Amino acid sequence: MKIAIIGSGTSAIGFIEKMYESNIKDVRIDVFEQGENPFLRKPVGKGSIYGFGGAGTFSDGKLSISPEIGGEISKYLGVEVYRKYVKDALNLWTLNGKIDNIEKSAQLSDPRISKIADEFFKNNLSVVLSEFVHIGTDNLQKIIKELYKKYSEDEFHRFNFYFNKTVVDLQKEDGKIKLLFENEESTELYDKVIIATGRGGSRFIDYLLKKWRIPFTGTKVDLGVRYEVSHRVTKDITDVLYEFKVKYLSRTDDEVRTFCVNPQGFVSKETGNDFITVNGHSYVNRKSENTNFAILVTHSFTKPFDDPTTYGLSVIKLANKLAGEKGIIIQRYKDFTIGRRSTDSRISKSYITPTLDATPGDLNLVLPRRTATAIEEFIEALNTVIPGINNPGNFLYGVEAKFYSLKPNFEKPFKLPEVEIYVIGDASGYTRGIMQSTMSGMYVADEILKRGG
Ligand SMILES: Cc1cc2nc3c(=O)[nH]c(=O)nc-3n(C[C@H](O)[C@H](O)[C@H](O)COP(=O)(O)OP(=O)(O)OC[C@H]3O[C@@H](n4cnc5c(N)ncnc54)[C@H](O)[C@@H]3O)c2cc1C
Repeated sequence: MKIAIIGSGTSAIGFIEKMYESNIKDVRIDVFEQGENPFLRKPVGKGSIYGFGGAGTFSDGKLSISPEIGGEISKYLGVEVYRKYVKDALNLWTLNGKIDNIEKSAQLSDPRISKIADEFFKNNLSVVLSEFVHIGTDNLQKIIKELYKKYSEDEFHRFNFYFNKTVVDLQKEDGKIKLLFENEESTELYDKVIIATGRGGSRFIDYLLKKWRIPFTGTKVDLGVRYEVSHRVTKDITDVLYEFKVKYLSRTDDEVRTFCVNPQGFVSKETGNDFITVNGHSYVNRKSENTNFAILVTHSFTKPFDDPTTYGLSVIKLANKLAGEKGIIIQRYKDFTIGRRSTDSRISKSYITPTLDATPGDLNLVLPRRTATAIEEFIEALNTVIPGINNPGNFLYGVEAKFYSLKPNFEKPFKLPEVEIYVIGDASGYTRGIMQSTMSGMYVADEILKRGG
């Protein structure tokens, strides 16, 4: 059996791990990845999200154990399936317990959690509770290198990795599938193809769905900012929850939420093909004085518009243009609320020091009015539970965005109709994090192994 995998992020690793652990010997798996191998990959430019390990490689490796966060696997495949694979995925990402210097959130039964949740609900905010394991950026990279080494040195030589190879199209030929690369056509025909291109590869899957007229759902994009405050402001909550996932409905009925909280973390840049967005990290062994988290506003579109990716990219690129070389705009909360530009001198009056070197500017010139208003309303609402969140000296960095992949109408879980092509991980539209993307890859591998090919 010949299988091609496009992409080598966490979903592909989940798939490969199950194949590696299986008894199947008569399989050849060719992995095509547009980025680099983990020993050459750098956390700058495209290397920050592309390459073996995928988008999460330089993340802070926050692994959500609860089904409510990071995707819809438990709704899509059922709770029992979720329970089985969550254990397998956690074993994979801790190298079967070998990595033990990890941080854990409190358990949901902890009475302190219920007290915090009550406070949010009483103040018109809802909170999604979840248990986390925090691996840390430093550990995660060790793990990814170790996994790559293990698969490359497989005693049955089942796995071949090809880096700097971008797949641009697929062709069906006599029940098999051919891959087309940039400026090159493969002569190989594969029995099965696994698309594991993540959210960064959403254009590729959008193209295939439209080309093969496969129906899909899902047309939304999240736009917003990375927000940075003193670690002391959020400490009481992050010491218990580690991450607070809070949601709010704005006056215009737009959903606003916190995302990816990094206690004592660092704001960072994320570089795509032709744009720069903002993100955040935290390390187990390196701490800052600040906490950062994303504030995202969901924008859903209806007919005739069905291209939220282009909408989001236009806003991001506008920020990049205004910010010049640095690509990211930083603004004090006070300046944001009164609609004036931050300057170096205004930034220096703040009570905290920014953790990212960005261009002082005015995000009101970039974000749509609905987005900017919803962000301000949300910060004020959060302040009722977390005093200090609306300090005039806090920083907003923009633009942060989260894209959602279109959800194909699958014939059976993750399989496209009438062809042996599976779409796993964030590209499927059903996952949004390391754990659940890994689980989707593991599930598809097990289904293929169960059928014997
Ligand atoms: C900065 C950052 C921080 C994050 N932090 C966390 C976190 O703490 N916890 C968490 O659970 N999740 C986190 N996430 C999300 C998580 O990384 C993703 O949900 C997860 O990596 C998705 O896995 P995937 O395999 O679907 O896609 P990815 O990991 O994105 O991998 C896709 C791979 O496919 C390659 N590719 C794409 N298109 C092609 C093509 N046409 N040809 C060849 N190769 C291609 C890409 O180069 C990439 O390496 C973070 C994401 C980012 C960007």
